[in-house]
Amino acid sequence: MSSIIIEQNIGKTFRNFRGKKFHALEKVNLEIEEGEFFVLLGPSGCGKSTLLRIMSGLDSSFIGSQTYKAGVDKKDFSFVFQQFALLPWLTVEENAGLGLFADHTLTAEDKKTVSGLLKTLGLEGFSHQYPRELSGGMKQRVGIARALAVKPKVMFLDEPFSALDSFTATALRKELLVLWNEYKMTVVMVTHNIEEAVQLADRIAVMTSRPGTIDAILQNTLPRPRDPRSPEFFAMVDKLTALVTK
Ligand code: ADP
Ligand code: MG
Repeated sequence: MSSIIIEQNIGKTFRNFRGKKFHALEKVNLEIEEGEFFVLLGPSGCGKSTLLRIMSGLDSSFIGSQTYKAGVDKKDFSFVFQQFALLPWLTVEENAGLGLFADHTLTAEDKKTVSGLLKTLGLEGFSHQYPRELSGGMKQRVGIARALAVKPKVMFLDEPFSALDSFTATALRKELLVLWNEYKMTVVMVTHNIEEAVQLADRIAVMTSRPGTIDAILQNTLPRPRDPRSPEFFAMVDKLTALVTK
């Protein structure tokens, strides 16, 4: 395996309205391997979203060095947001095809891609509905379809399931794993949910706050599909809990 994203000594400082500095990230070192499912885990406020935005190229104001594998750039990335970020005036189909829009219309080929994805995500028949007509789970399915439509090399997800009820979140986690396998993409996901990290990740980076930095990176070798009631699963959860709360 080779690295697709390398972060070296990344730092990020915010200033409050009085000009006082706040070090949100300090000395973050990280290598994302191509094709892996990588999770950033840590408590609220530790800098997970800040780091994800930097890694994905949404935020270019930071210190340190960030390298993408040769031939890879921001165009190869897509993002799934916690609050779905759908455009309310566009239909499901148009939202899902947002990354493909050229001259504000979808080509026949784009429409085929989008309708295939909507079918895969269980949204067949909803193409012409608007976001307000959908449940949270359906909205996030559209968010995932939109992210996949551009055939990303890396998909970044920021707490994609934390606004959903637990049944919907469980179903969507399973679907995400299927899609990750099918699309052979790299996934970098943020969560504060330890069980979710153990369920999904190949590797887990544990972040601590003030300043936000990476404390440990754990390999998660539990065989897939993972059984959340197995002793090995609990052992991994315990290990991470100790790291997160120390
Ligand atoms: P997480 O995603 O882990 O909850 P964030 O990356 O959103 O954490 O934020 C990390 C820290 O940086 C927090 O203390 C937050 O208040 C601060 N922060 C985030 N964005 C900004 C901003 N635009 N301006 C000032 N402070 C910010
Ligand atoms: Mg966040």
